[in-house]
Amino acid sequence: MSSNIIKHQLTLDPANSLAPTRSDTGVAHDAEPKEAQPVANSKDDSTGTLRFIGTATTILQWAGINIMTDPNFLHAGDHVHLGPGVTGTRLTNPAVELEELPAIHAILLTHYHADHFDQKVEEQLRRDLPIVTTPHAREHLADKKTGAEKFEQVYGLDRFENAVLNVKSSGANSAADAKQAAIKVTAMPGKHVPPGPLGVANDILGAVPPVNGWMLELGQKTTDSEEPMGGFNCGYRIYISGDTLMIDDLHEIPKLYGEHKIDLMLIHLGGTTIPGPNLPLLMVTMDAKQGVQLMQLINADLTIPIHFDDYDVFQSPRKDFEDLVRSSGLEEKVKYLDRGEQFEFELRK
Ligand SMILES: [Zn+2]
Repeated sequence: MSSNIIKHQLTLDPANSLAPTRSDTGVAHDAEPKEAQPVANSKDDSTGTLRFIGTATTILQWAGINIMTDPNFLHAGDHVHLGPGVTGTRLTNPAVELEELPAIHAILLTHYHADHFDQKVEEQLRRDLPIVTTPHAREHLADKKTGAEKFEQVYGLDRFENAVLNVKSSGANSAADAKQAAIKVTAMPGKHVPPGPLGVANDILGAVPPVNGWMLELGQKTTDSEEPMGGFNCGYRIYISGDTLMIDDLHEIPKLYGEHKIDLMLIHLGGTTIPGPNLPLLMVTMDAKQGVQLMQLINADLTIPIHFDDYDVFQSPRKDFEDLVRSSGLEEKVKYLDRGEQFEFELRK
Protein backbone atom coordinates (compact mmCIF):
# COMPACT_ATOMS: atom_id res chain seq x y z
CA MET A 1 0.00 0.00 0.00
CA SER A 2 1.50 3.24 -1.13
CA SER A 3 -0.66 5.77 0.65
CA ASN A 4 1.86 6.63 3.33
CA ILE A 5 4.20 8.77 1.31
CA ILE A 6 4.02 12.05 3.14
CA LYS A 7 5.29 14.56 0.68
CA HIS A 8 4.32 17.81 2.34
CA GLN A 9 3.54 19.00 5.84
CA LEU A 10 1.83 22.32 6.43
CA THR A 11 0.65 24.04 9.58
CA LEU A 12 -2.60 25.97 9.42
CA ASP A 13 -3.32 28.50 12.14
CA PRO A 14 -6.97 29.02 13.16
CA ALA A 15 -5.96 32.43 14.56
CA ASN A 16 -5.13 33.58 11.04
CA SER A 17 -8.12 35.60 9.89
CA LEU A 18 -6.83 36.60 6.46
CA ALA A 19 -9.28 36.78 3.59
CA PRO A 20 -8.34 34.59 0.62
CA THR A 21 -8.13 37.62 -1.67
CA ARG A 22 -5.52 40.32 -2.05
CA SER A 23 -6.65 43.85 -1.28
CA ASP A 24 -6.57 46.49 -4.07
CA THR A 25 -2.97 47.15 -3.19
CA GLY A 26 -2.08 43.50 -3.62
CA VAL A 27 -1.41 42.79 0.03
CA ALA A 28 -3.20 40.36 2.32
CA HIS A 29 -6.02 41.76 4.42
CA ASP A 30 -8.29 40.55 7.22
CA ALA A 31 -11.55 38.90 6.25
CA GLU A 32 -14.30 41.35 7.10
CA PRO A 33 -16.71 40.01 9.66
CA LYS A 34 -20.06 39.73 7.87
CA GLU A 35 -23.43 39.75 9.52
CA ALA A 36 -24.16 36.36 8.04
CA GLN A 37 -20.80 34.64 7.96
CA PRO A 38 -20.90 31.92 5.31
CA VAL A 39 -19.14 29.56 7.62
CA ALA A 40 -19.31 29.28 11.38
CA ASN A 41 -15.90 29.62 12.92
CA SER A 42 -16.20 26.99 15.58
CA LYS A 43 -12.99 25.74 17.13
CA ASP A 44 -14.69 22.62 18.41
CA ASP A 45 -13.26 19.68 16.50
CA SER A 46 -15.95 17.11 17.24
CA THR A 47 -18.13 18.48 14.44
CA GLY A 48 -17.54 20.10 11.07
CA THR A 49 -19.51 21.59 8.22
CA LEU A 50 -19.34 21.47 4.50
CA ARG A 51 -20.95 24.32 2.55
CA PHE A 52 -21.69 24.08 -1.15
CA ILE A 53 -20.89 27.33 -3.00
CA GLY A 54 -21.35 26.22 -6.64
CA THR A 55 -19.62 24.14 -9.37
CA ALA A 56 -17.06 22.15 -7.32
CA THR A 57 -16.50 24.95 -4.81
CA THR A 58 -17.16 23.99 -1.21
CA ILE A 59 -15.90 25.22 2.14
CA LEU A 60 -14.98 22.61 4.71
CA GLN A 61 -14.92 24.05 8.20
CA TRP A 62 -13.39 22.04 11.01
CA ALA A 63 -11.19 22.63 14.05
CA GLY A 64 -11.25 26.38 13.45
CA ILE A 65 -9.94 26.22 9.92
CA ASN A 66 -11.66 26.73 6.59
CA ILE A 67 -10.56 24.80 3.54
CA MET A 68 -11.93 25.75 0.15
CA THR A 69 -12.12 23.34 -2.78
CA ASP A 70 -11.87 24.25 -6.48
CA PRO A 71 -12.61 27.99 -6.20
CA ASN A 72 -14.87 29.21 -8.99
CA PHE A 73 -16.56 32.58 -8.49
CA LEU A 74 -17.65 33.59 -11.99
CA HIS A 75 -21.25 34.59 -12.64
CA ALA A 76 -23.99 33.57 -15.03
CA GLY A 77 -23.01 34.68 -18.54
CA ASP A 78 -19.25 34.60 -17.87
CA HIS A 79 -17.15 32.47 -20.18
CA VAL A 80 -14.40 30.02 -19.36
CA HIS A 81 -11.71 28.90 -21.72
CA LEU A 82 -11.21 25.17 -21.19
CA GLY A 83 -8.51 24.60 -23.80
CA PRO A 84 -8.02 24.81 -27.54
CA GLY A 85 -11.45 25.18 -29.11
CA VAL A 86 -13.28 24.43 -25.88
CA THR A 87 -15.21 27.10 -24.03
CA GLY A 88 -18.06 27.07 -21.57
CA THR A 89 -20.59 29.62 -20.35
CA ARG A 90 -21.56 29.77 -16.72
CA LEU A 91 -25.28 29.47 -16.08
CA THR A 92 -25.39 30.05 -12.31
CA ASN A 93 -24.00 32.39 -9.66
CA PRO A 94 -21.88 31.29 -6.71
CA ALA A 95 -23.69 31.37 -3.35
CA VAL A 96 -21.03 33.71 -1.96
CA GLU A 97 -18.91 36.32 -3.69
CA LEU A 98 -15.15 35.87 -3.78
CA GLU A 99 -14.74 39.21 -1.98
CA GLU A 100 -17.10 38.13 0.81
CA LEU A 101 -15.45 34.91 1.85
CA PRO A 102 -14.43 34.30 5.45
CA ALA A 103 -10.82 33.54 6.33
CA ILE A 104 -9.55 30.65 4.22
CA HIS A 105 -6.56 28.66 5.44
CA ALA A 106 -5.87 26.42 2.44
CA ILE A 107 -7.19 25.48 -0.97
CA LEU A 108 -7.54 22.03 -2.49
CA LEU A 109 -7.54 22.15 -6.26
CA THR A 110 -8.34 18.97 -8.20
CA HIS A 111 -7.03 20.30 -11.52
CA TYR A 112 -6.11 23.42 -13.41
CA HIS A 113 -9.28 24.06 -15.38
CA ALA A 114 -11.10 27.39 -15.49
CA ASP A 115 -14.36 26.03 -14.08
CA HIS A 116 -12.35 25.01 -10.99
CA PHE A 117 -9.88 27.89 -10.76
CA ASP A 118 -11.12 30.76 -12.87
CA GLN A 119 -9.34 33.83 -14.17
CA LYS A 120 -10.82 36.08 -11.47
CA VAL A 121 -9.72 33.69 -8.74
CA GLU A 122 -6.27 33.42 -10.29
CA GLU A 123 -5.91 37.20 -10.30
CA GLN A 124 -7.31 37.91 -6.89
CA LEU A 125 -6.20 35.19 -4.49
CA ARG A 126 -3.43 36.21 -2.15
CA ARG A 127 -0.15 34.69 -3.17
CA ASP A 128 0.74 33.13 0.19
CA LEU A 129 -2.44 31.06 0.40
CA PRO A 130 -1.45 27.37 0.57
CA ILE A 131 -2.77 25.39 -2.41
CA VAL A 132 -2.61 21.59 -2.56
CA THR A 133 -3.06 20.36 -6.12
CA THR A 134 -1.63 18.34 -9.03
CA PRO A 135 2.01 18.74 -10.18
CA HIS A 136 0.55 20.10 -13.46
CA ALA A 137 -1.36 22.88 -11.71
CA ARG A 138 1.66 23.62 -9.56
CA GLU A 139 3.64 24.26 -12.71
CA HIS A 140 1.09 26.82 -13.89
CA LEU A 141 0.53 28.55 -10.57
CA ALA A 142 4.07 28.62 -9.26
CA ASP A 143 6.82 27.57 -11.68
CA LYS A 144 5.59 29.48 -14.73
CA LYS A 145 4.76 32.71 -12.92
CA THR A 146 7.16 35.38 -11.83
CA GLY A 147 7.31 38.24 -9.35
CA ALA A 148 4.12 39.22 -7.55
CA GLU A 149 2.02 36.87 -9.68
CA LYS A 150 3.67 33.71 -8.45
CA PHE A 151 1.77 31.63 -5.87
CA GLU A 152 4.28 30.99 -3.10
CA GLN A 153 2.88 27.89 -1.42
CA VAL A 154 1.70 25.41 -4.02
CA TYR A 155 2.07 21.74 -3.15
CA GLY A 156 1.80 19.19 -5.95
CA LEU A 157 0.74 15.62 -5.19
CA ASP A 158 0.89 12.61 -7.47
CA ARG A 159 -1.63 9.88 -6.88
CA PHE A 160 -1.41 8.23 -3.45
CA GLU A 161 0.97 10.87 -2.13
CA ASN A 162 -0.05 12.75 1.00
CA ALA A 163 0.01 16.23 2.37
CA VAL A 164 -0.62 16.61 6.10
CA LEU A 165 -2.40 19.78 7.16
CA ASN A 166 -1.62 20.24 10.84
CA VAL A 167 -3.94 22.54 12.74
CA LYS A 168 -1.95 24.76 15.08
CA SER A 169 -3.28 24.34 18.59
CA SER A 170 -3.88 27.27 20.89
CA GLY A 171 -1.39 25.86 23.37
CA ALA A 172 -4.02 25.35 26.06
CA ASN A 173 -3.57 21.56 26.05
CA SER A 174 -1.74 19.97 28.93
CA ALA A 175 1.15 17.63 28.16
CA ALA A 176 -1.00 14.64 29.11
CA ASP A 177 -3.48 15.65 26.45
CA ALA A 178 -0.97 16.35 23.70
CA LYS A 179 -3.27 15.86 20.73
CA GLN A 180 -3.25 17.86 17.58
CA ALA A 181 -5.97 18.12 14.96
CA ALA A 182 -4.73 17.25 11.48
CA ILE A 183 -6.09 16.49 8.05
CA LYS A 184 -4.33 13.89 5.96
CA VAL A 185 -4.91 14.64 2.28
CA THR A 186 -4.18 11.80 -0.13
CA ALA A 187 -4.30 12.23 -3.91
CA MET A 188 -6.72 9.75 -5.50
CA PRO A 189 -6.76 8.58 -9.10
CA GLY A 190 -8.88 10.38 -11.65
CA LYS A 191 -9.08 10.62 -15.43
CA HIS A 192 -10.84 13.37 -17.29
CA VAL A 193 -10.72 11.51 -20.64
CA PRO A 194 -11.72 7.95 -21.32
CA PRO A 195 -8.73 5.64 -21.76
CA GLY A 196 -8.15 4.08 -25.17
CA PRO A 197 -7.85 5.39 -28.69
CA LEU A 198 -9.64 8.63 -29.28
CA GLY A 199 -9.02 9.62 -32.86
CA VAL A 200 -12.03 11.84 -33.02
CA ALA A 201 -10.99 13.66 -29.89
CA ASN A 202 -7.34 14.23 -30.65
CA ASP A 203 -7.85 17.92 -31.19
CA ILE A 204 -9.55 18.45 -27.91
CA LEU A 205 -7.39 16.26 -25.71
CA GLY A 206 -5.10 19.22 -25.20
CA ALA A 207 -7.99 20.77 -23.31
CA VAL A 208 -7.96 18.17 -20.60
CA PRO A 209 -5.41 18.45 -17.79
CA PRO A 210 -4.47 15.73 -15.27
CA VAL A 211 -6.82 15.43 -12.33
CA ASN A 212 -6.59 14.36 -8.71
CA GLY A 213 -9.36 13.16 -6.50
CA TRP A 214 -8.83 13.61 -2.75
CA MET A 215 -9.22 11.52 0.34
CA LEU A 216 -9.42 13.76 3.38
CA GLU A 217 -8.96 12.16 6.76
CA LEU A 218 -9.87 14.42 9.66
CA GLY A 219 -8.56 13.39 13.04
CA GLN A 220 -6.19 13.76 15.95
CA LYS A 221 -2.56 12.79 16.26
CA THR A 222 -0.21 12.71 19.21
CA THR A 223 2.20 15.62 19.27
CA ASP A 224 5.03 13.86 21.09
CA SER A 225 5.56 11.22 18.40
CA GLU A 226 8.60 11.16 16.13
CA GLU A 227 6.39 10.08 13.26
CA PRO A 228 4.63 12.86 11.34
CA MET A 229 1.32 11.03 11.72
CA GLY A 230 2.09 9.28 15.02
CA GLY A 231 -0.98 7.91 16.77
CA PHE A 232 -3.29 9.41 14.15
CA ASN A 233 -6.90 8.56 14.79
CA CYS A 234 -9.18 9.39 11.88
CA GLY A 235 -12.65 10.53 12.93
CA TYR A 236 -14.11 11.36 9.52
CA ARG A 237 -13.15 10.41 5.99
CA ILE A 238 -14.23 12.42 2.93
CA TYR A 239 -13.62 11.31 -0.64
CA ILE A 240 -13.80 13.97 -3.36
CA SER A 241 -13.97 12.42 -6.83
CA GLY A 242 -12.62 15.35 -8.87
CA ASP A 243 -13.53 15.56 -12.55
CA THR A 244 -13.13 11.92 -13.43
CA LEU A 245 -14.92 9.34 -15.47
CA MET A 246 -15.75 5.97 -13.96
CA ILE A 247 -12.41 4.31 -14.76
CA ASP A 248 -10.75 1.08 -13.62
CA ASP A 249 -8.17 2.97 -11.56
CA LEU A 250 -10.92 3.97 -9.16
CA HIS A 251 -11.14 0.34 -8.02
CA GLU A 252 -7.88 1.04 -6.17
CA ILE A 253 -9.80 3.18 -3.69
CA PRO A 254 -11.91 0.50 -1.95
CA LYS A 255 -8.82 -1.75 -2.02
CA LEU A 256 -6.74 0.90 -0.32
CA TYR A 257 -9.26 1.80 2.37
CA GLY A 258 -10.77 -1.64 2.85
CA GLU A 259 -12.65 -1.77 6.09
CA HIS A 260 -11.95 1.90 6.81
CA LYS A 261 -15.23 3.61 6.44
CA ILE A 262 -15.66 6.40 3.92
CA ASP A 263 -18.15 8.70 5.57
CA LEU A 264 -18.82 11.18 2.83
CA MET A 265 -18.30 11.34 -0.91
CA LEU A 266 -18.43 14.53 -2.95
CA ILE A 267 -19.10 13.47 -6.48
CA HIS A 268 -18.39 15.67 -9.52
CA LEU A 269 -21.23 14.94 -11.94
CA GLY A 270 -22.55 16.92 -14.89
CA GLY A 271 -21.66 14.61 -17.75
CA THR A 272 -19.47 17.44 -19.05
CA THR A 273 -19.32 17.10 -22.82
CA ILE A 274 -16.76 18.88 -24.98
CA PRO A 275 -15.96 20.71 -27.14
CA GLY A 276 -19.37 22.26 -26.47
CA PRO A 277 -23.15 21.90 -26.27
CA ASN A 278 -23.46 22.23 -30.05
CA LEU A 279 -20.80 19.63 -30.73
CA PRO A 280 -21.02 17.07 -27.94
CA LEU A 281 -18.27 14.64 -28.89
CA LEU A 282 -16.61 13.51 -25.73
CA MET A 283 -17.90 13.14 -22.20
CA VAL A 284 -15.24 14.06 -19.63
CA THR A 285 -17.07 13.91 -16.28
CA MET A 286 -19.48 11.35 -14.87
CA ASP A 287 -23.12 11.39 -15.84
CA ALA A 288 -25.92 9.98 -13.69
CA LYS A 289 -25.19 6.36 -14.60
CA GLN A 290 -21.47 6.56 -13.84
CA GLY A 291 -22.24 8.51 -10.67
CA VAL A 292 -24.42 5.69 -9.36
CA GLN A 293 -21.75 3.15 -10.35
CA LEU A 294 -19.19 5.13 -8.36
CA MET A 295 -21.54 5.24 -5.36
CA GLN A 296 -21.78 1.46 -5.53
CA LEU A 297 -18.00 1.09 -5.81
CA ILE A 298 -17.02 3.48 -3.01
CA ASN A 299 -19.94 2.66 -0.73
CA ALA A 300 -19.66 5.87 1.27
CA ASP A 301 -22.22 6.41 4.02
CA LEU A 302 -23.40 9.53 2.28
CA THR A 303 -22.90 11.15 -1.12
CA ILE A 304 -23.33 14.81 -2.00
CA PRO A 305 -23.45 15.59 -5.73
CA ILE A 306 -21.69 18.77 -6.87
CA HIS A 307 -20.58 20.12 -10.28
CA PHE A 308 -23.87 19.38 -12.08
CA ASP A 309 -25.52 22.45 -13.59
CA ASP A 310 -23.18 25.42 -13.51
CA TYR A 311 -21.99 25.42 -17.14
CA ASP A 312 -23.57 24.82 -20.51
CA VAL A 313 -21.08 22.00 -21.15
CA PHE A 314 -22.64 20.08 -18.24
CA GLN A 315 -25.12 17.92 -20.15
CA SER A 316 -26.37 15.56 -17.46
CA PRO A 317 -28.54 17.47 -14.98
CA ARG A 318 -28.81 16.47 -11.33
CA LYS A 319 -32.40 15.42 -11.99
CA ASP A 320 -31.10 12.43 -14.02
CA PHE A 321 -28.95 11.39 -11.08
CA GLU A 322 -31.84 11.86 -8.64
CA ASP A 323 -34.06 9.60 -10.76
CA LEU A 324 -31.43 6.90 -11.05
CA VAL A 325 -30.60 7.06 -7.34
CA ARG A 326 -34.29 6.56 -6.58
CA SER A 327 -34.73 3.65 -8.95
CA SER A 328 -31.54 2.05 -7.59
CA GLY A 329 -32.86 2.27 -4.03
CA LEU A 330 -29.99 4.51 -2.91
CA GLU A 331 -32.00 7.54 -1.77
CA GLU A 332 -30.97 7.14 1.86
CA LYS A 333 -27.35 7.48 0.85
CA VAL A 334 -27.58 10.84 -0.88
CA LYS A 335 -27.83 14.33 0.54
CA TYR A 336 -28.77 17.04 -1.93
CA LEU A 337 -27.39 20.49 -1.18
CA ASP A 338 -28.45 23.57 -3.06
CA ARG A 339 -25.88 26.30 -3.54
CA GLY A 340 -25.42 28.05 -0.20
CA GLU A 341 -26.64 25.11 1.89
CA GLN A 342 -24.40 23.31 4.31
CA PHE A 343 -24.10 19.84 5.75
CA GLU A 344 -23.02 19.25 9.31
CA PHE A 345 -21.16 16.13 10.36
CA GLU A 346 -19.86 14.57 13.52
CA LEU A 347 -16.51 12.89 13.99
CA ARG A 348 -16.12 9.49 15.59
CA LYS A 349 -14.37 9.58 18.96
ZN1 LIG B 1 -15.13 20.67 -14.17
